[in-house]
Amino acid sequence: MARHTVTLIPGDGIGYEVSAAARRVIDASGADIEWEVHDAGLDVIEKYGEPMPPHVLASIRKNRVAIKGPLTTPVGKGMRSVNVALRRELDLYALVRPCKSYPGVRSRYQDIDLVIVRENTEDLYAGIEFQEGEPETLKLIETIGELGGRTIRPDSGISIKPISVFGTRRVFRFAFTWARANGRHKITAVHKANIMKYTDGLWLRVAQEVAQEFPDLEFEDRIVDNMCMQLVQKPELYDVMVMPNLYGDILSDLCAGLVGGLGLAPGANMGDEIAVFEATHGSAPKYAGKNVANPMAMMFSGVLMLRHLGEAEAAERLERGLAAVIARGESVTYDMKPQRDDPTAVGTSQVADAVIAEMHQPRASA
Ligand code: NAD
Repeated sequence: MARHTVTLIPGDGIGYEVSAAARRVIDASGADIEWEVHDAGLDVIEKYGEPMPPHVLASIRKNRVAIKGPLTTPVGKGMRSVNVALRRELDLYALVRPCKSYPGVRSRYQDIDLVIVRENTEDLYAGIEFQEGEPETLKLIETIGELGGRTIRPDSGISIKPISVFGTRRVFRFAFTWARANGRHKITAVHKANIMKYTDGLWLRVAQEVAQEFPDLEFEDRIVDNMCMQLVQKPELYDVMVMPNLYGDILSDLCAGLVGGLGLAPGANMGDEIAVFEATHGSAPKYAGKNVANPMAMMFSGVLMLRHLGEAEAAERLERGLAAVIARGESVTYDMKPQRDDPTAVGTSQVADAVIAEMHQPRASA
């Protein structure tokens, strides 16, 4: 019997290719993993009647660890995001997204080592929305008027932003605990409390309370717009940044841009019992099936997963293999080359070959 059983959701779009590549390098890292592979998303609706069928959730609940490729969500209409629903359904309330520079990556910045912890279940992503013109929307608008709120135009659509004491407290406790366990020294709470006093104001107040429980760690806060500028100007001042769902989504891409792009940014959706690992990027449909997408973000998500499974040696071997391929700069995909149409760019599966070859190299003695 394998040491670990892990649920693998390949995803769609470029998901199939990056997942296959990531699975190969994880297997080659020395960790003994049995995979339970389950499809989800748009592609399975016809077969199962829903994008995240119960047997897929049951597999994740049983194994407590999963790694998934990206899943497509139609923009502006149609079904809600399966990714967001999965995080809520399994109560994966903290999304940890490390952004680290590796020598050889083309970027305007060197030596970046930041971590975003994004609250994953509340805020404007809670999925509480009222469509323009619907009777319940008009009723809500009327009720808000009666309760003494501002007048809302009757032709408005409405998205609700809930931020609770419970949700805020647990994500900050998670972030401080994670920071301490991972040798980090500072937490920055990100918010817009000057404008949204009852949601982001609550977020900041609870963050300050939780900070008292961790006197060994430095604590500060930043308003989200200032945070964006600071990250572009002096990212070295920051360490672990904790933010509500929407800001976390946006700033994750900003930080990915600091370390070489979406092709390199991994993530871990964490709950109290279950962890689901996935890259920051989406399904990039225009590259699907072309063997061109960068699998490294998914592979780095695999590094996070191996650490979570207690496979520290395998994690280090895989991270070293990835770092060596990046440093050589030869067997990398188009997005890591100086020009996007560089003919020396390799395909998704060739990156896996190169990482496996590096992992099998004997280590040079120091
Ligand atoms: P995206 O991340 O899929 O792609 C944006 C651009 O980034 C791409 O066009 C491509 O140029 C580049 N890119 C992304 N990943 C890359 C990779 N691995 N290698 C090379 N280049 C890469 O974002 P999008 O276009 O906004 O979203 C496409 C779909 O993905 C949407 O349906 C969206 O809802 C979904 N999505 C899913 C997740 C998830 O599964 N967690 C996350 C984000 C977006």
